[in-house]
Amino acid sequence: MNAQIPHSAQASAQANAALVEGVLQGQRRALAKSITLVESSREDHRQQAQALLTALLPHAGGSLRLGISGVPGVGKSTFIEALGLYLIEQHQKRVAVLAVDPSSSVSGGSILGDKTRMELLSQQTAAFIRPSPSAGSLGGVAEKTRETMLLCEAAGFDVLIIETVGVGQSETAVASMTDMFCLLQLPNAGDDLQGIKKGIMELADMVVVNKADTDKVATARACAQIKTALHMLRPASPNWTVPVLKLSALKKDGIDQFWQNVQSFYDTMHARGELQERRHRQARSWMWELVDSGLRQRFRAHPRVQALLTRSEHDVTAGLLPPALAARQLLDALDSPPTG
Ligand code: GDP
Repeated sequence: MNAQIPHSAQASAQANAALVEGVLQGQRRALAKSITLVESSREDHRQQAQALLTALLPHAGGSLRLGISGVPGVGKSTFIEALGLYLIEQHQKRVAVLAVDPSSSVSGGSILGDKTRMELLSQQTAAFIRPSPSAGSLGGVAEKTRETMLLCEAAGFDVLIIETVGVGQSETAVASMTDMFCLLQLPNAGDDLQGIKKGIMELADMVVVNKADTDKVATARACAQIKTALHMLRPASPNWTVPVLKLSALKKDGIDQFWQNVQSFYDTMHARGELQERRHRQARSWMWELVDSGLRQRFRAHPRVQALLTRSEHDVTAGLLPPALAARQLLDALDSPPTG
């Protein structure tokens, strides 16, 4: 019975072959359809998506992966639009913009409000803009974005821009899927450096003070403060000094300097083998993240664990059972053979 192949399997293999072909040819419809498959939570779609990704993986990896983060209102969409248009017009690049915004699934509304943003860029045939998947947890959103990145690479986009909001953990997720992570800041830094957490600052490969057109003095002060702060941190790479740039996304002033720094980072890191090492590390930790979350899911779904769980939680809460012993019993339940 288990040798029976679902009759839809052949049809699904053919559909996949057509999608693979379409994505490789850079067809937008095929790409959008593939992303929809990747984002679906239906089990048959998941399987189809994995087959698709496996087929396309050898064709991925050729893009420059750029992470952009900053608090709402700092000017991310204005900047990404300006950068995207600059890359298309001046450098004949194809640009894909993806977003990681876990707020869209928590609150039902997206902080990145993708629909009305980047209108000029979205009209370009050389651009592809995809809003954040609303997949529940940050882990879910990040996983789907990583897979979508591979699809976009197979579709031949030269630059992938992954945007995220400067709230919560999403920066760490985006830094762990990109080659270069850039932090956008405002000129009115103040003494607290806009609450930039040390951990986030340590992730940055470049810091940009946007809206430099609004207040030159404040911008210069913010740049100096950020440089001082960076000086006190351990550099992410011994081969790279994190640049602090001033820029006006609105006036499109400083975009070329930004791009020069991206290229210089890329060349430096590539020459030292650091870029490849970063990507290898990211791929391994992505695998382990999925193993960890898969184990947790299986653990909670296991019938013997479920039978014990309520009681264990109650006893631990009531102080009747040491947490370590409770954990041990639950883990042992996972190993014991199912009864009857
Ligand atoms: P996001 O929430 O980070 O995506 O920010 P937006 O790109 O939506 O920008 C928020 C506001 O700041 C908008 O009204 C923009 O026009 C404005 N803005 C963005 N960049 C600049 C800039 O360089 N200078 C000035 N003066 N305003 C800017």
